[in-house]
Formats: sequence, C-alpha cells, structure tokens
Amino acid sequence: MSIKVTLIPGDGIGPEVSAASQRVITASGAGIEWEIVEAGEACIAQYGTPLPEHVLDTIRRNKVALKGPVTTPVGKGFRSVNVSLRQQLQLYANVRHMKNLPNVASKYEEVDIVVVRENTEDLYAGIEHMVGRDAAESIKIITREASERIGRYGFELARREGRKRVTIVHKANIMKLSDGLFLESVRSVARDYPEIVCDDRIVDAMCMNLVQTPEQFDVLVLPNLYGDIISDLVAGLVGGLGVAPGANIGEMYAVFEAAHGSAPQIAGKNLANPLAMIMSGVEMLKYLGYVKEAQRVEKGIESVLRQGEYITPDLGGQAGTKEMASAIIAAMA
Ligand code: NAD
Repeated sequence: MSIKVTLIPGDGIGPEVSAASQRVITASGAGIEWEIVEAGEACIAQYGTPLPEHVLDTIRRNKVALKGPVTTPVGKGFRSVNVSLRQQLQLYANVRHMKNLPNVASKYEEVDIVVVRENTEDLYAGIEHMVGRDAAESIKIITREASERIGRYGFELARREGRKRVTIVHKANIMKLSDGLFLESVRSVARDYPEIVCDDRIVDAMCMNLVQTPEQFDVLVLPNLYGDIISDLVAGLVGGLGVAPGANIGEMYAVFEAAHGSAPQIAGKNLANPLAMIMSGVEMLKYLGYVKEAQRVEKGIESVLRQGEYITPDLGGQAGTKEMASAIIAAMA
C-alpha cells in the first residue's frame, strides 16, 4: 500500500534538495506515491498567481505535502507563497526540531530544542497599509483562540515526546494587550499538563539566554514573528540552516519544509546541503506512521555525518548535494 503525497520542488536550490529528499525517502522503503506540482514565480505567467488553485487542491486531496523553498520578492511583488499556503490551509503550527548532530560544527553540544511557532496571525500576517505618503501601519492581531490552539499543540508535543518543559516567549511587558493575551492564553492551557514545567521569557532576554545557555531549554511556544526570528537563531546554535528541518501542521493538512530559503547564490551548483530537506522528509514519515523507515533514514544520516567524507561545503566537506544523498542511501542499506 502506498500513500500519495504532494511534492512542491520550489525554486533556487529547492529542486536540488527536494530531489535529494525524494530519493532518500523513497529508498527508506516507505510506500509513497509522489504527486509533483510547481509553485512560485514560474507559475505567474501561466496561472496569474504564484500559488495556483490546483496546487492547494492537491494538498487538500492528499492531506500531506513536502515542499522546497520558494523565493519571495523583498519590499514589492507578489505575496509570499509560504505565508499564503500556511493561511489558506490553516497550518497553524510551525514546528522545528533542532538538535546538535555528530560532526556538525557548533559552539554548543547539547542543544535539543523544539520551536513551536504560531503560524497564522500576529504582525506576520502582513496586514499593513500606508497612512498618507510618509507613514506605514502594520496590524498585529493576536486572538485567544489561536493562542490557546498553539499552546495546546506545544504541550501535546511535549507530552508525546516526553519533554519536560515549555517556555512561552513574548513581549507582554510592552505589548500588554496583544502579547499579554498570548501569554495568558498559553498559560491557561498549561494547567492541563501538570507534569510539564511551564515558564516564560521576554523575547529579548530569551535571545541572550539562548546564546549563553541553550542546553537549558526544551520546547518554546511563540507568536509568529518572534517565532520566525528565534527559530533561525536556534538553527544557528546547532550548525545553521542546512540542518534545520521544519513542518507546518494544521487540523486537516501538513506541509513539511526545511527552515532555509531558496539560497539563490548557490542554486544549480550541486552545493546545497540536502539534510534539512531530508530531515523534513523524516518528520513527514513519522507523521504518516512510517516510524521504522524514518529511523532508517536517521541512521543513514548519522552514519554519513560521523564518517565525514560525503558532506557538503557548508559542513566543511567537498561532496555535492547528490553525492551526499547517495551516501545516506548507501548507509541505510
Ligand atoms: P536562505 O535560507 O535562502 O539563505 C541564507 C544563507 O544560508 C545563505 O548564505 C545560503 O547560501 C545559506 N543556505 C541556505 N540553505 C542552505 C543549504 N541547504 N545548504 C547550504 N547553504 C544554505 O535565506 P535568504 O537568503 O534570506 O532567502 C532567500 C529567498 O528564500 C528569499 O526570497 C526568501 O523569501 C526565501 N525563503 C523562503 C522560505 C520558504 O520557502 N519556506 C524560507 C525562508 C526564505
């Protein structure tokens, strides 16, 4: 039996890392049938939008997608495909498991943090307008419903994974109403999980604590914008964006994607590190119930990293994207 999954290769390094991930996931033995569709700038000429309706429809049908990064123009141009996808499919939780890996250079050794970021509202929803010619206004929306929902997701994840602590990150000392509501809502959910320690940090202090003693943290629950920033910071603690997987999860659908973007500088050169995209595929396998297959890929990754020969330049090696994926497949056998 196989499960049909949507694959969006993306642009920039997206097609290279997506192909690598597809090969490795297929080699794991998991029964997956891939339905490949394009999104991003290349779609605009043909469909008039970077996120055509048929792409959303395949995800609605298959329920699960693996997605490569898609370029977003800065300051002008079309709206982010990534943000639209998250909002239209109500993928309310952005989840990133980030931990130190063998032979991946980092200043730290025992980081094992899950960042759980609210994905649908806050300043990141991009609701903004000009006020006359010389002022711009952005609207920050925080609701009790979305805050409790992400809080519950964070605590359920902590319980499922046997994690001990959830830290709520906010700036409620200044944004007393919006961030105050976020803090109060997540705290109210915490009462249902008495076995898990719940504490909170102001986002600026959190940045300092993370670079000083990241080992102390376990699960972080954050509103959208702080979550965006802190998740890249945590990626930096474990060796960079090349090794940071991600997932966007909703009640009905899930889209798995690496934390990194389309890295246009290295696109098409077989230089991109495929690990983040492969590890996102591993998260997808677990979500689909292919736990043994996911563990097989994890063992392959660990063995290639420990051996240290077939790794990409960002990890200090000389192997290409394709060669690293092939080495992982060989190590899984
Ligand atoms: P980026 O993640 O593409 O690149 C940041 C740095 O990390 C660059 O130096 C890049 O070369 C390096 N890097 C990233 N991924 C790598 C990999 N797999 N292997 C080796 N090195 C890697 O971030 P950016 O430059 O800020 O963004 C580029 C574009 O990607 C922008 O248009 C942005 O909007 C888009 N983006 C998309 C997503 C997504 O689709 N989910 C996420 C973030 C950024």
